[in-house]
Order: sequence, then C-alpha cells, then structure tokens
Amino acid sequence: MASGSASGGSTGKKPVVTRFAPSPTGFLHIGGARTALFNWLYARHHGGKYLLRVEDTDRVRSTVEAIDAIFDGLSWLGLEGDEPPVFQFARSQRHAEVAAELLRHGHAYRCYLTTEELAERRQKAQEERRPFRIESEWRDADPSTWPEDKPYVVRMKAPREGESVIEDLVQGTVTVQNSEIDDFVILRSDGTPTYMLAVVVDDNDMGVTHVIRGDDHLNNAFRQLVILRGMDWDIPEYAHVPLIHGADGAKMSKRHGALGVDTYRDELGILPEALFNYLLRLGWGHGDEEIIDRDQAVTWFDIADVGKSPSRFDLAKLQNLNGHYLREADDARLAGLVMHRLEGDADPDLLTRAMPVLKVRAKDLNDLAEGAAFLFAKRPLAMTEKAQGLLTDEARGRLAAIHERLSGESEWNLEGLEANLKAMAEELELGLGKLAQPLRAALTGQTTSPGIFDVLVLLGREESLARIAAQADVPAGSQV
Ligand code: GLU
Repeated sequence: MASGSASGGSTGKKPVVTRFAPSPTGFLHIGGARTALFNWLYARHHGGKYLLRVEDTDRVRSTVEAIDAIFDGLSWLGLEGDEPPVFQFARSQRHAEVAAELLRHGHAYRCYLTTEELAERRQKAQEERRPFRIESEWRDADPSTWPEDKPYVVRMKAPREGESVIEDLVQGTVTVQNSEIDDFVILRSDGTPTYMLAVVVDDNDMGVTHVIRGDDHLNNAFRQLVILRGMDWDIPEYAHVPLIHGADGAKMSKRHGALGVDTYRDELGILPEALFNYLLRLGWGHGDEEIIDRDQAVTWFDIADVGKSPSRFDLAKLQNLNGHYLREADDARLAGLVMHRLEGDADPDLLTRAMPVLKVRAKDLNDLAEGAAFLFAKRPLAMTEKAQGLLTDEARGRLAAIHERLSGESEWNLEGLEANLKAMAEELELGLGKLAQPLRAALTGQTTSPGIFDVLVLLGREESLARIAAQADVPAGSQV
C-alpha cells in the first residue's frame, strides 16, 4: 500500500451509488443542498441510487432539530434518499470491528503516546522550526509488547514513501506525497471510532461508488485511501466540488446568504424549483441555458462539467429565477403558499383567481402576499400616504361620478368595465388615468396594483362600489 492511483475503473461496471452525508450540527445550508443536488442528479442521470447518511457521531453538536431541518429541507427540494437514511453513530460497533481488523492485519497499531508526550514533541518541533509529524515508536512495536492496562489510540500506518494520486472527477489529477500523510487516529482511547474511519466504512458498506462532496474534504480523501487500501476495498470515484463564495468572492457567510434552506423558503418566499435550478447553475452549466427544470437537468448533468473554481452566490439571480418559476406555477398552489403570509382571513378561491395578475411582476411569495393584501382588506381601507395624496376634493368628486356610472353597469366583467370607464373618460374629456388613479387609491389603498379593471373584477361589484363610495364625495351608502 505504498503508493498508487485512486482511480482505475475498478468501480466502472457497478451501478452508480452516491450519497449525501450531512453532519447534523446545524441547518441544511445552501452548500449542503447543492452537494445533495449534485449527488441526486448524478445518480438519476446514471439510473443509480442516491443515499443519505446522517453523520451524527459528534454527540455534543448533533441535534434532533438539525436532523429534522435537514430532512425537511431535502424533502422540500425533492432530494429525499432512495432508501431510509443511515445513521452513522448507530454503526459505531461496525467501525470498531474494522479498526480491529486493520490492527490484526498490521495496517494499524496501538499507539500509547500520551497527549502530554505529543504536546512536548509538537513544541520541540516548533522550537526547532521543523514541521511536526507523528513518529510513534509504537508503529513498529510487536503486538505482543502492547500493554493491556494502559490507554491507547489506534492509528493507521500511513505509507511513508512514494505518493498517492486521486483522479478527481472535478479537480483532475491530485497528487500528495505520502510523507505528508500522518499516522492518523481511527479509534480514540475511549474506543470510539473517528470520523475518518466511519466515513470509509460506511461508504464501503453502503456500496458507494461515487463520493461527491465539498472540496474541503479533499485532504481527507488521501487519509481515507489509506484505510481503503488497508481493507483492500474498492476505491470509489471522487468528485470534490468547490465551495460556494459570496457575490464579493469572499468565503460564504451569513451576510452573503449562507442561510438555511428553510430561510429561503420561509423568509424569502423562494419556490423549491427555483432554488433547485439556481443551485444547479451554481458551478455547473450547460451552454448558456439558465432555465433548466428537473427532467432536463437529469438528462444533461455530468459531474465532469462542474467547474474547478468557486462559484459566487447571487441573490438577485435567484430572485429572477424565482420570478420565472412563479409565473409558471399553478395558481391554486401559489394561493396555498401565499395564504399563511396574509393577515386575517383570505378566500383561497379569490386568491387563486387573482394569481395571474399578481404574479406578473412578483419575485417571491412575499411580493405576491403584499400584492394580494388589498383583496382582503377590511373597510375603511388603510391608505398609504401617496394614495391619500391622490384623493383630492376633485378626485373625490370624480369617484362619486364613477360610482354612479358603475352602479348601472349590468355585467361586471373586464370588457364591460373597460368600455364603460373609457367612454366616461372621453365624455369628461379626461385621460383615463385621471379616473384610474383615484379609483386605484379607493379600491386598494395604494398607488400601485394590478390593472384597474382586473382589480374591479376581482373585488366584485358590491365590494368595489362600497370601497368607491367610502372615498367618494358623498356620504357612503347614499345615492350618488
Ligand atoms: N459529514 C461531512 C460534512 O457534512 C461530509 C463527509 C463526506 O461527505 O464525506 O461535511
């Protein structure tokens, strides 16, 4: 196991199995979601399997809430695993067994160096200005000399000569001198397996053929190779995907939108298909195509087309895509999503009927809710300052005339109302705007809204006339 290449096509014939392996120490963030997406797509594209593994071995930082949030985010994006998830901690015994096997075959050893001894050596190396490297005298000790009554850790015997190569599907050929890989710990002194061991054992046992993950794990891959070779297990293909950076090129932080997927859904009102499309385009492309739906993505996706440099997160782009998907979305579905963003009671049928005109300019569900609010507002309508400003004495007089005119409107529909008001504007020798502006203020309490005839139709005769009367220059309810 001195050196060699990690690729070699040994997994080439096997059906593709990918996995997403989040550590449940926080929400499902945007980078994790993209890793999940790439794994899902790769498996779908090759007709393989996509599995989930919860890496919950950090017992202090792993929480049930985080696990729930991750599953919730994945299912919202339609990235559930093809099989029930594997929980890593539950497999500790199996991990320990593999450590025992590595010990038996001489690929690992018990190291009795104490933390103090290691600290001393580290400090000495520092003083002598040479890189510290664990050179344990226990590496070559005969197992018959291993004390039974002293604490120890189990370390891998990493090769010291030669180099290791990974033909990474994204990073290309990556070579590391074996002298740089230390004898890392696989079993702690309390007998618990380390993350490094657990990942390798689980990937093997789950039959993972392709490890697609963030490139912050590239260094780990070389350690993981040492274990794989020790066990004589198949080496998976690796694809280390560059991390996501903020729009300014700096590492992604909260300020850049490194938020939980749930924040995009709940606070920013993003649709899952929009985030799916956005994440897909973040680091992967197919020509100049911007709008790519799920099926198309499955057909086109190839991990080799993922770029090597970090991609930049751009909220405005995500919002634009979201606007596109809002316009494509089913109106009743959108009404359902907007419903709980509205204050008070809202009629789902009316909301659904309003969607075609509301979604024209909306970027997100909040825009839709804001745009829909006037439909369900109670009289007397709250007026924005601008709307109030439009309601001059002259305008109130016109509203009275409009009220009279529309009261006689026999069919309350788009064409009839439009013809009626246009005729009225002509008769009064006024631009339509002079009627539409105060009318909009009276009907919506605002100065922007969907087209005024749409507003009249959506509100219906009774409510429209009542709102106009409330602002017209006559006492409400009296004949005008
Ligand atoms: N649990 C690791 C993480 O959340 C991923 C490990 C892996 O994909 O190998 O970063």
